[in-house]
Amino acid sequence: MKKLALHWQILIGMTLGVLFALILTNFSWGSDFIGDWIKPFGTIFISSLKLIAIPLILAALIKGISDLKDISSLSQMGFRTIITYVITTVIAVSIGLGVVSIVKPGGTINEETRNELVEAYGGDAESKRIDASKQKEAGPLQALIDLVPENIFSASASNRNMLQVIFFAVFFGIGLILIPEEKGKPVKDFFDGVNEVILKMVDLIMLAAPYGVFALLAALVVEAPSPDLFAALGMYAISVVLGLLLMVGVYLLLVWIFTKRTPSFFLKGIAPAQLLAFSTSSSAATLPVTMERVTEHLGVDEKVSSFVLPIGATINMDGTSLYQAVAAVFIAQAFGMDLSFGTQLGIIATATLASIGSAAVPGAGMVMLVGVLGYAGIPEAGLALIFAVDRPLDMCRTVINVTGDASVSMLVAKSQGKLGEPHVKDWDDNYKK
Ligand code: ASP
Repeated sequence: MKKLALHWQILIGMTLGVLFALILTNFSWGSDFIGDWIKPFGTIFISSLKLIAIPLILAALIKGISDLKDISSLSQMGFRTIITYVITTVIAVSIGLGVVSIVKPGGTINEETRNELVEAYGGDAESKRIDASKQKEAGPLQALIDLVPENIFSASASNRNMLQVIFFAVFFGIGLILIPEEKGKPVKDFFDGVNEVILKMVDLIMLAAPYGVFALLAALVVEAPSPDLFAALGMYAISVVLGLLLMVGVYLLLVWIFTKRTPSFFLKGIAPAQLLAFSTSSSAATLPVTMERVTEHLGVDEKVSSFVLPIGATINMDGTSLYQAVAAVFIAQAFGMDLSFGTQLGIIATATLASIGSAAVPGAGMVMLVGVLGYAGIPEAGLALIFAVDRPLDMCRTVINVTGDASVSMLVAKSQGKLGEPHVKDWDDNYKK
């Protein structure tokens, strides 16, 4: 029997998960049953992905960088990567601002709904504000200080320290380039082997993906807020989703223009990572799959993907920055504030920086939104307005974050002459050219 492509299997798992939860919520024991017996499998699935993120970054980056042979190609690639990331983020924020000023979702919120939302979610909003204020207390160069770990083992002990692990791996890779080849070879071969093993582990975990997403989505449905709230915030949610969809168009266009790869080729290759981003709301958890798809299914050379993608997962969040722009202006509109052109330009800058600073985990974008609101003088209590629909929007913006990383890796690969043909390995879904 012909095997169904992986993205279809995952989509079926997601749909069945939602249906299953919708049916079970009709029974008094349904939610508890899902919480006790289904959700844990989703958690195990995410954990198994997170489990391999740090070893994968270490092995892939060390191997990738030492393959470069010289430091100048590393700095050239690094420069191109960062510039392209910043450009796509600025495009994303601008699209967000454009959409929110045309749709004006804040106008649909009447005072009564506003008060209800502030009352219902004020506490949750407060806790995000406290998280944000912890980050704000730091000095201007704190991000730079945080980049350099004082101990690689303690840095590797938390997925939140990915940038530190990246720093170590790049540093180690540079050292490896600079030592005599015969000394470096065994070290390189070792990381090469580790890298292969981990990519195979990704394939194995992905065999469970349809079941994992079933559990994740079933658990999300029973924990979802009431549909009335969705209706009240409908226009806001539509604005975010519309902006995100436009951003997908931008990526497809960029990839098509610069690499001549068609939208269907790109989407088919990256779809499983996108679906996983949607189900897990975490670009960090999705990273191993993004790496595997981009390298094996989109033809990006490992030297490029192993560098561009881990960095992208931590600093390039176009979906998050777009959402922050829409959310900030929506809250301002709901409070009857008019934002000047200068303030909007400032939102572009702060949302770009905030998305760079956001951790690649669920809900991180909302914490950083506090900074954007603070800058623009928008009441931070307004976070309560958007809380109810944050999770579904988090799922959508994470898809864009991952898609952005994948597109940029193709652009950088093309510019370095390192974009080739896909080379799918066994155990993978049945890719056909
Ligand atoms: N969940 C997002 C991610 O992991 C970050 C955010 O926007 O909250 O990419």
